[in-house]
Amino acid sequence: MNIQDILSASMSRREFLARALKFSVAAVVPVDDPYSVEPDDEQIIGEETLDFDSIILREINFDWAKRLRRRSRTDAVVIHHVGNTDKNINAAAIHRWHRKNGWAGIGYHYVIRKDGSIERGRPLDTVGAHTYDHNDNTVGICVVGNFELSRPTSEQFRAAEKLVGAICKHYDITPGASTVFGHKDFCKTTCPGIYLYKWLPDIIRNAI
Ligand SMILES: [Zn+2]
Repeated sequence: MNIQDILSASMSRREFLARALKFSVAAVVPVDDPYSVEPDDEQIIGEETLDFDSIILREINFDWAKRLRRRSRTDAVVIHHVGNTDKNINAAAIHRWHRKNGWAGIGYHYVIRKDGSIERGRPLDTVGAHTYDHNDNTVGICVVGNFELSRPTSEQFRAAEKLVGAICKHYDITPGASTVFGHKDFCKTTCPGIYLYKWLPDIIRNAI
């Protein structure tokens, strides 16, 4: 007796097909696409900025393929690495990659280059595209490199501390283990790499 015979014994063919279809639909991995807003939604971006005293912040006006949605609350910061390359790539390169995914554009709010300079990605007050199921309430930072293979530069550590501190101050969040995360805290991934993840407690301590 095959599986269909067994199932047919307890349900009609129609019911079997309906269930099979339901299963196949449910098996499709949902795409993390926080950009899909109604066409008539107002595009509200870039209204909030951080108070950066000593941080070099390169502002880039990206062309967004889709309208960005404003984030209604902010509880945490999520830290990432690039991962697929250890090259000192910039926010514009990530923007191109993410657009090819069919996204609005770069999914991170900030990118920290190897020299410690910080580039703005998605405007701070918009919903990012960096951590599945946690984009609605978090700010995403990408530290450039592959930290499974190499270590972040000391300039990147200093920049991350200042940036996390500035974001937490802006949103009145106390930096800590329940507010500053690595991507792997939420998803099955190695991001942000072993050599960055293990120093998150130091970044948190110095961000305060
Ligand atoms: Zn990540």
